[in-house]
Formats: sequence, structure tokens, C-alpha cells
Amino acid sequence: MSKLSDRINNLAESQTLAMAKKSRELQAKGKDIISLSIGEPDFNTPDFIKEAAKKAIDNNITRYTPVPGILDVRKAISEKFKRDNGLNYTPEQIVVSTGAKQSIANVILSMVNPGEEVIVPIPYWVSYIETIKLAEGIPVTIPTSVESNFKITPEQLKKAITPKTKMMVFSTPCNPSGSVYTKDELKALADVIIQHPDLYVISDEIYEYINFIGKHESLAQFDFIYDRVITVNGVSKGYAMTGWRIGYIGAPKWIADACEKMQGQFTSGTCSIAQMAAMEGIKADPSVTFEMRDAFKKRRDLVLGLLKEIPGMKTNIPDGAFYIFPDISYYFGKSYGNYKINNSNDLSMYLLEEGNVALVSGDAFGDNNCIRFSYATSEDKLIESVKRVKEALAKLK
Ligand code: PMP
Ligand code: GLU
Repeated sequence: MSKLSDRINNLAESQTLAMAKKSRELQAKGKDIISLSIGEPDFNTPDFIKEAAKKAIDNNITRYTPVPGILDVRKAISEKFKRDNGLNYTPEQIVVSTGAKQSIANVILSMVNPGEEVIVPIPYWVSYIETIKLAEGIPVTIPTSVESNFKITPEQLKKAITPKTKMMVFSTPCNPSGSVYTKDELKALADVIIQHPDLYVISDEIYEYINFIGKHESLAQFDFIYDRVITVNGVSKGYAMTGWRIGYIGAPKWIADACEKMQGQFTSGTCSIAQMAAMEGIKADPSVTFEMRDAFKKRRDLVLGLLKEIPGMKTNIPDGAFYIFPDISYYFGKSYGNYKINNSNDLSMYLLEEGNVALVSGDAFGDNNCIRFSYATSEDKLIESVKRVKEALAKLK
């Protein structure tokens, strides 16, 4: 008998975190690895946010907080939803959690029963599938490809829905494809969703501020499905606050109440100091995030330009987030020395060991033809890492 539960034995490790760990270990051994594996802005948290954290400590805001978050923080989030997204969520409909990762887990564990299906468009962020499995739900994936800019169509969604469907989970802007759904595309999906009264949707909008094509569009803006959407957001990406661990949802009150109950047993209210710091960011004009967004766009263009010079790299033009997800299936069947490349896992191991560049295999996101570059790092490192990738790939025959 296993000493560990089936639950943990069946859970896959987060591949993004696993690759980041592996590159740190190799770097500690003195290997000159450039890691483009983890999705984390390399900028520092803005000073005015750090000041708010110092003030919170000095003001002794150091006790347990209400489980769904400090009321003033939820009020600020409520205002933000109105200001940026035209969404009306009262503070009672908002739950602040230890990162958007916990927000998503709260919702899935609160809503999905064993055997219920959850639709997940490919490519998906790594943690969706494992959290669904933890809830004993059944992930039902919808394929896309670089040719369709990695977006699903309303027809595909319609076809994936069965009497067992409970939920759909997706992100816009998307990790890992960078695709951004337009208002018209979301409306077309909403027209399908409304026809299925038992279907709920987690709309993960954590990359809202890293959008290169203009205004962010929220799924919940369509009044006729507002009651069926859980809007997820957070400060990790837009405000360069990954370590502070603040994410949140806006949702129908009964779902927010369920998440509060779940969180009350797991973690309680999240860190008081991080909440006070995040509140300053959330209250500020979103223009404070534009400098970082513009830097990401410049890096995207740089990497896209460099990747174009590598044979067999098929890319879309990512309109947001900070990832590029090229189709690298051109290299399947090729080899060098003891390396034989049959899939994206083989290629990411080869590039790590032979090229000293850490990328994440597309397999982790459901698409084994692709590989993920996170370009949230300096231009110098980006130039050097793509050069290494190019040289390593050129050896494959
Ligand atoms: N959703 C997506 C699509 C992400 O890329 C991330 C980043 N890891 C998260 C949610 C979770 O973010 P965090 O827990 O740092 O708020
Ligand atoms: N979201 C980031 C990524 O995809 C951070 C790592 C994680 O939490 O999975 O790389």
C-alpha cells in the first residue's frame, strides 16, 4: 500500500515550477543556464506599492484578516472592476486569495463534483488540469493550433458540451499562447454559454494589463451570462508582484461564499501586508503598469524577429502576456549524438542540456507540437538565449 494518498500520487508536478527548479539547480552547480521557463516579470515591484507594505507593518496591520479579504481591499477591487472592466461586483462578491492559483483552486474545488466535465481549451495553463483532477472532475480539452491563433471557435465549444459539462476554464490573454480574445469572439462564445444553463466559466484574466492591442475585454461584460462567470485576476503579472501572492475573484455571491468557506479551512485570509500593498496598486491609475507592458512588447518583437531566422519555427503573433509558443514539430524525427527528438519534451531536454536554455515543453500545456518561451527577461539574455537555441537546433539532422 502506498504511504501517500492516491490523490497526491495521481497529481502531476507543475511543469513550469519543475523547469524553474531544475534550472536553478543547474545554475547552482555552475552551469550557465538562461531560464526562459517561468512566467515571472523581471521588474521590481513599483516603489509606491512597497511603501504601502512598509506602512502596513508600521501600522500593525499584522493580524488575521477576514477570510475573503480586508474590506477596504475588496472595495478597491470592486472599484477596479468598474473602472477597468465595466463589471459590477460588490465587495461581498469578491474573495482575495493567496495568488490567482488559489482563487482558481477554490472555485474548482467548490463547484466540480466527481465525474463532472470541465472544458479546457488547448493550450491551457498547467495548473487547470491538475486542479480539475484533484476535484475528480474530467478535463475535456478542445484542440487549437498556431494556424487558428490558438483560439477556439463557438462551434468547437458547442461540440464539447455534454449533459455532464459543469465548467469551462480559459485565460485571455492566454498563457502560454499570448492570444487575446476580442469582444466579438467572446460574445460568440457567450451566445453558446447562455444556451447551457448549467455551464459556468472561469475567465482567467490575470494578464489583463499585458495586452498589446488595446482594451482588455472581460467575458462577464455580457449581462446575459454575468451570473455564470467567475472572473479571476491578480497582481502577480501586471504589477510585478509574483512573490506577494495576491489573487482574487469576482463571482456570483453564492460562489464567493463557497470559496470563502473553502479558504477558511485551507489558508484563512491571505497575508495582511501583501493585501495592503496590492490595494495601492489596484487603486492607482493603470497607467503605472504601461511602462512594463511596453517593455514586454518590445521584447516580444525582438524575440519574434529572432525566431523568424530559425528554420521550422512556426509562431503566431501573441497579442498579450509574455510568452511565445512556437510549433517546433519540424524537428521531430531529427537527432544529434545520443539525442533523438520525438516530441516537445525531448526538445526541451535537448535545449536545456545541449543549448543551456530552459524552456517549458508544450506538453505541459496540452500541445506536444509546441514549446514555450517566456520573454519576461532582459533583452541581452533574450538575444543570447535565442542564439543558443538556434545553434543547438542547427545540429539536429
Ligand atoms: N493563471 C495564469 C494563466 C497564470 O499564468 C498564472 C501564473 N502562474 C496564474 C493564474 C497564477 O498566478 P498567481 O498565483 O501568481 O496569482
Ligand atoms: N504562471 C507562471 C508560469 O506559467 C508561473 C509558474 C506557475 O505558477 O505555474 O510560468
